[in-house]
Amino acid sequence: MSKKIFYNLAVAEGKVHNTSVDDVHFHEVGAVDSIIDIVGSVIGLKKLGVNHVFCSKLPLGSGFVNCSHGKIPIPAPATVELLRDVPVYQSNANHEMVTPTGAAVITTLAEEFGEMPSIKIEKIGYGAGKIQSNQPGILRVFLGKKEKREN
Ligand SMILES: [Zn+2]
Repeated sequence: MSKKIFYNLAVAEGKVHNTSVDDVHFHEVGAVDSIIDIVGSVIGLKKLGVNHVFCSKLPLGSGFVNCSHGKIPIPAPATVELLRDVPVYQSNANHEMVTPTGAAVITTLAEEFGEMPSIKIEKIGYGAGKIQSNQPGILRVFLGKKEKREN
């Protein structure tokens, strides 16, 4: 699954850099950070026994971020490539809310986006980024059992 996430990220980075998947260099993606994020997500889901991943609509930040090409718009081009066909909305965050790595992880793992399914919540987790801003960069996860349908 980690390889699949890296592959999807490579396809998106390759497209925006106009290069092949084999020649992609993840220079906008911190190498060690992205390995930890990607492999850690997959290990976490496995350890927690997660069978299905659902994700809310994704908030996109705005503004620009500095990279080796200079300033690129937020969301980053690779992020938007990965988020084709995923429901997103413009939030008022003036920073990156979804990174290319995050987009690769969630679009590979989630089977549905949008409304939260009917579940009984058993565990709640929070992960916070370091950016101090008008809108916190927080990822919240609910682990639960799907409610059995009546009838
Ligand atoms: Zn680049």
